[in-house]
Amino acid sequence: MPAPAGSSLEAWLRYFDDLGLGPFYLDRAAMELPATAAAPGAPPAPRASVPSPARPAPPRPGRPPEAVLTVVPSLFEGAARAGLEGDTLARIREDIGDCKRCRLCEGRNSIVFGDGNGQAELVFVGEGPGHDEDIQGLPFVGRAGKLLTQMIEAMGLRRQDVYICNIVKCRPPQNRQPERDEVATCSPFLDRQLAVIRPKVIVCLGGVAAQTLLGTNKTISQFRGQWFEFRGSKLMATYHPAFLLRTPSAKSDVWTDLKKVMAELGMKPPKPKPRST
Ligand code: URA
Repeated sequence: MPAPAGSSLEAWLRYFDDLGLGPFYLDRAAMELPATAAAPGAPPAPRASVPSPARPAPPRPGRPPEAVLTVVPSLFEGAARAGLEGDTLARIREDIGDCKRCRLCEGRNSIVFGDGNGQAELVFVGEGPGHDEDIQGLPFVGRAGKLLTQMIEAMGLRRQDVYICNIVKCRPPQNRQPERDEVATCSPFLDRQLAVIRPKVIVCLGGVAAQTLLGTNKTISQFRGQWFEFRGSKLMATYHPAFLLRTPSAKSDVWTDLKKVMAELGMKPPKPKPRST
């Protein structure tokens, strides 16, 4: 497999640096690239898979070994699963800094880190900030966000009881879907957030969040409402509130999913409101 192109390699190097793993990384012999460094449009790599062991490249006969810098996917994967020692949301935010690791920094106003209860049992993961989120620096505060807030309140919770974050922390231009390399660069910070919070339940809002965390190419309608295991949390995908704004008939499916989430969290389903006659 070829080495990653300059910018994505740089991003990985910086990332390992952020983890304090830089020197170890540089000492390693050439490794196979992770699937997460593949070309845009390629299928997402499974995030819950067992990391592949580092494999040294065979030496080329008659030539000195090439100083090829390669990435070691297992380093972060392992760290995320175990939880980085002493990691905190504040430390993760600090590590993100004034991030320039991918091209999304070019058009952003704010880094939208996440919001809510850092010890929440329930975390919602969306795709990426939109216009309002980019302005305010908070996730899900626009139209779709207002609907998400209503959904949370319909469950008998308040926004501040849960934690809300996204796969990428900067707004993609024109609200396009984040590209594969942008997701690969940013989502390790989400991994760390989830490892710190260790929620009972993660709800992925929409296909991008679910496909990223589950490492699948399936469309969300194929697995929405089903439970998956994700690093000690239970994970369910449901439709994105922005989709519900366009397709209100799908709201009942989402409500069915959220009732399963409530049951998993030991919450009583809210009593149906009596219909006014
Ligand atoms: N859509 C998302 O996926 N995330 C936000 O924060 C806002 C809209």
